[in-house]
Amino acid sequence: MLDAIVIGAGPCGLATAITLKKAGLQAKILEKGYLVNSVYHYPLSMTFFSTPEKIEIGGVPFITAGDKPTRHEALKYYRTIANYFDLDIHTREEVQEIKKCAGGFQIVAVNRSGKQVYGTRNVILATGYYDQPNRLGIPGEDQDHVYHYFREAHPFAGTNCIVIGGKNSAVDTALELQLAGANVTLIHRRTGIDSSVKAWVKPMIENAIHFGRIDARFEAVAEKITQDSIHIKQNGKEEVLPADFVFAMTGYRPNLRFVKHLGGQIDPLHQCPIYDEETMETSVSGLYLAGVVASGNDSGKIFIENGRFHGDKIASHIKQKQGISETVS
Ligand code: FAD
Ligand code: NAP
Repeated sequence: MLDAIVIGAGPCGLATAITLKKAGLQAKILEKGYLVNSVYHYPLSMTFFSTPEKIEIGGVPFITAGDKPTRHEALKYYRTIANYFDLDIHTREEVQEIKKCAGGFQIVAVNRSGKQVYGTRNVILATGYYDQPNRLGIPGEDQDHVYHYFREAHPFAGTNCIVIGGKNSAVDTALELQLAGANVTLIHRRTGIDSSVKAWVKPMIENAIHFGRIDARFEAVAEKITQDSIHIKQNGKEEVLPADFVFAMTGYRPNLRFVKHLGGQIDPLHQCPIYDEETMETSVSGLYLAGVVASGNDSGKIFIENGRFHGDKIASHIKQKQGISETVS
């Protein structure tokens, strides 16, 4: 039986696996996609808001050409880290079920060869939130021209694009689409662009709106999306806008199905598993959280910057538990 299985090879899952390894614990990472799968799926031209030393892991310096890492530099860095620490990572292997069993957990995963079953004393959920976008819940949301992710602007030049949301993803998407020649309308339910938008980007979007390069509708909500239009309501007034493409950049939330299935407690207000902040252990003994999966519906609470240290707490708690059980036996 393994000491631990880490589910998810994002930056925080990798940082946890390194700490477990340094503590002499035998751990494996199971990752349904590629190494740092969420970062891989970020917009191609994305630059992190963090400076490189704030997202480095395992104590290995992250050197970048500019002040902030690009997506490409981050992918290269985390690949190097996985090799340098010789981590036991199974990519393209999705965990489908976690069951309690004598001495720990049984994990059922699926890869190209079929079903894989592992036994482990502890499970670390490092599954992030990027796979589960916040839905608008309006008619027409499931059409092919409605996206919850943005990759690059080129295909949308000369088209009418609607961007929904008022924080970092919405602002980056609106600016990039406009620069590529799309006609962009930003729809946001608040009175203006959120103060959490990166300090150097906020003036760019506000200028683009002020000078009419981007049309913005504040205090506005989308009510229906058709094949070529969007119905919105702004200050009680209904309007129909042309929409070839809709980017609902409304944020993401963690998938809590494993915690719920194992009978773990969930904080109903923040939709986040209840866990001990000293150890990162959930209300299920041996089930831990690492990274942004612990953030619930407040995605501004945990980043790589602080989530990368969750593994330290987890490894020392597992070591402590092992010490106690060895003393008892
Ligand atoms: P993730 O990186 O999301 O990793 C989770 C992994 O789990 C994924 O690889 C996923 O494929 C895998 N997984 C999920 N379910 C399963 C399963 N059932 N079986 C196996 N594997 C599974 N934070 C910062 O500190 N600085 C920044 O500059 C920054 N920039 C960001 C930019 C964008 C566009 C976004 C969306 C977020 C950004 N963040 C940033 C926030 C956050 O830190 C990142 O989302 C980061 O990727 C979180 O790391 P993580 O390891 O917790 O989760
Ligand atoms: P987010 O911060 O959760 O913002 C989501 C936005 O969508 C908010 O403005 C929210 O409105 C709005 N929204 C949510 N649900 C909605 C609904 N049902 N209808 C209408 N509007 C809705 O999501 P994000 O911008 O994708 O950012 C996610 C994380 O990634 C954050 O940690 C962020 O910092 C990070 N990020 C970083 C970068 C970068 O570094 N370059 C780029 C993008 C994202 P309210 O304002 O009313 O809540």
